[in-house]
Amino acid sequence: MNERTIALVTGANKGIGRAAAAQLAALGMTVLVGARDPRRGEEAAAAIRSAGGDALAVTLDVTDAATVGETAKFIEERFGHLDALINNAGITGSGQVSPTDAVDQIPSTVDLAMVRTVFETNVFGLIAVTNAMLPLLRHAPAPRIVNVASHAASLTLIGDPDGPFAGLLPSAAYSPSKSAVTALTVAYANELRKDGILVNAVAPGYVDTDSNNHTGFLTVEQGAAILVRMATLGADGPTGGFFSEEGPLPW
Ligand code: NAP
Repeated sequence: MNERTIALVTGANKGIGRAAAAQLAALGMTVLVGARDPRRGEEAAAAIRSAGGDALAVTLDVTDAATVGETAKFIEERFGHLDALINNAGITGSGQVSPTDAVDQIPSTVDLAMVRTVFETNVFGLIAVTNAMLPLLRHAPAPRIVNVASHAASLTLIGDPDGPFAGLLPSAAYSPSKSAVTALTVAYANELRKDGILVNAVAPGYVDTDSNNHTGFLTVEQGAAILVRMATLGADGPTGGFFSEEGPLPW
């Protein structure tokens, strides 16, 4: 059993997470498709199996401690270890409106309850899942953690008046939540470096998914590529970094 390489992708029933799960399965990993809706998780896992991959659905709402604990218990009993964790589950807070186009994220008028909801999933959920999976990651020979951030996490990029976010709306919810994801990535990397666990943040780019009402220009397969690359790094790979498919990103 233990020679199988196991990956868990949160929020893998659709979008970038689902494409990442399919790509990891195509590389020969056993993929656990995290989904808060078991029916949609099973549908995604079945599609991966139909394509010849090894996939299982696990019911996982990152804001629900019970499902987080049950997922860890399931992996422990079934596989005894976890090789790669991709913390992909995320919400914009504004439904299918891109966060840089969302009037309800403007700082001076934002609804604090919405900010809390976004942080609950994008930040606190990531900590809860990571900490629950760490004992299993420690049982793997070359464990990897990938945290899905965004270009909008970069204070350098969003603060540049001539940069890619110039003219777009400022976000008091999504962007800061993703900046917290990159900050946590550095914190975890610093703690886990001595244990050989590589932890990196990634930005998939502007990807055609439900989260931006399909206004993105990259396919989910293109967006998932950097998640998969960072989940399968060799021993000499980086840790505590922030990467897009084009290379390192500024903090
Ligand atoms: P998506 O199609 O809306 O997928 C988001 C996934 O996260 C869905 O599976 C969703 O499940 C899941 N999710 C949401 N809340 C959850 C929770 N509490 N517990 C477990 N799963 C939960 O969006 P996407 O564009 O693929 O986004 C994937 C990641 O990429 C997110 O972290 C997003 O912020 C990031 N990202 C996306 C873009 C882009 O251009 N699309 C750019 C930068 C970063 P349900 O189906 O149940 O809602």
